[in-house]
Amino acid sequence: MNAIECSREQDVIDAVSSGRWPDRCDDALRAHVAACAICAEVAKVARALQDDHEAAWRDARVPPSGRVWWRAEMRARQEAARKAARPITLVQGAAAVCAGGVLVALAALAWPMWPTLTAALGLLTASSLATVLPQFGVPLAIGIGSILLLTPVALYFVFSEK
Ligand SMILES: [Zn+2]
Repeated sequence: MNAIECSREQDVIDAVSSGRWPDRCDDALRAHVAACAICAEVAKVARALQDDHEAAWRDARVPPSGRVWWRAEMRARQEAARKAARPITLVQGAAAVCAGGVLVALAALAWPMWPTLTAALGLLTASSLATVLPQFGVPLAIGIGSILLLTPVALYFVFSEK
């Protein structure tokens, strides 16, 4: 009675966990459990654990497969939309920075020429416009050039991300 282990414990555990205990296991094991206090205890504990496990398994609420699929689909779409929006916002930011830089450059260049410009607008003669336009030619070309360069880049990012 001092023994704490029995060589047939594993057989009892196997029989209980496979659902064969006590009706569908061999008579030798049943006779041993009836005679062995350790195996009787093991059978009782293993049976209780097995019942508990089965009850938890029965009560587990698994969502329907359709809902699981729908959630996965929604998550994939949101992920794709987020990924697609990233390069567009980058291009928009770059375009805004370029436009801001061009505007600042134009303002800085135009400030000293303000009297000439107002005079040109006031007179609106062909000769005064001819003197003013070449002065604005370089920043104007930079502005138009940057727009012409950035538009295809932005379009590329918009249409390459599908
Ligand atoms: Zn035993």
